[in-house]
Amino acid sequence: MRIAQIDSIIVRLPYKPVVRRASGKEGAFNAARALSPTLDALLVRVETDNGYVGWGEAFGHACNPATMALLTERVSPFFRGEACDDISALMAKAHYAFHSYGRGGIMMYALSALDIALWDIRAKAENLPLWQLLGGTRAQIELYPSIPSYDGDVGQLLTCINALVHQGYRSIKLHERQPAAIATVCREMPDNVVLMVDTNCAWSEEEARDILPALLEAGVSFVEEPTFPPENISRLQRLKQCTGMPIAAGENFNNSEEFLLSLEHGWLDVLQPSVAKIGGISTVLDIIAAHAEHPCATLLPHCFYYGPGLAASAHLISVMPSNVPLEVPWLAFEQQLHPLMHYQPVMALPDVPGLGFAPDATLIDRFTIARG
Ligand SMILES: [Mg+2]
Repeated sequence: MRIAQIDSIIVRLPYKPVVRRASGKEGAFNAARALSPTLDALLVRVETDNGYVGWGEAFGHACNPATMALLTERVSPFFRGEACDDISALMAKAHYAFHSYGRGGIMMYALSALDIALWDIRAKAENLPLWQLLGGTRAQIELYPSIPSYDGDVGQLLTCINALVHQGYRSIKLHERQPAAIATVCREMPDNVVLMVDTNCAWSEEEARDILPALLEAGVSFVEEPTFPPENISRLQRLKQCTGMPIAAGENFNNSEEFLLSLEHGWLDVLQPSVAKIGGISTVLDIIAAHAEHPCATLLPHCFYYGPGLAASAHLISVMPSNVPLEVPWLAFEQQLHPLMHYQPVMALPDVPGLGFAPDATLIDRFTIARG
């Protein structure tokens, strides 16, 4: 079986934003503080010479055009015509061929998309849902809403969160930066609700050292990427040691080596591989295997995706060593592209061969803004 065709598609889904921010460079360029009430996804469609179609996704946001150019000019020509029965061998060849482009960023995003699509094809060829092919044991997984920032508006946050708790969600993640607002919201939560906080690298080390004890005392489960830059793990470790607050990171790690180091040294409490950034399903499986050797942290995938990246993350959750929930972007999209986007507290994993990502072609066309 050989790869015959590779197409890249950027879709843009509008959603209703919870707050409107003043314009400025931070909002225009920073993915974590986006101004645009749309979320773009770079989908990659791979077709084999014997007719299988697989879907992958490359992270994301405003760097999609750069990743698409890299796919069109370099990555897709490399993969076209290659035998793809042995995913491990083909991906090893690609990682080696492209290593001098940088072992992170858009090259790794592009390779992630190809890897996910190849696993989709493999599972279809084996006539198994991907989670079953990978040895997953859970047919149903819990979801956790990853809710966008309300800029510290406690009233709106509590309205949103109380509705989620009422629907049956048991874990929720905030993207807030104001410590007093976070602590107030956390104290208002029922004891059985896990509240996580992601600051998207908002604080200095000194600020974090002052803030984290109060959040720990309020009952925050962990704080994700409290400081910049996100890969400064020794700083995160210092914060963990001097405040006692569990620390999460990993969505901005460049490659599996950074996860392996963190696992070997026990540096972090929660590690968050992001399937469409870190190298795809193969790399997350490598991280799961390394975790089995060094089970010092919780593996909790990062998933701010609604395309094949969402589906791939869901299948991988079934394989994770502990029964963790799947992050889903809690944005009020005007349109769902496929059934997995109809979120409920518990998601039944697809029981069809492959990823189970089968978007309506008319819908894809309607929201496509670029093809390559
Ligand atoms: Mg995050």
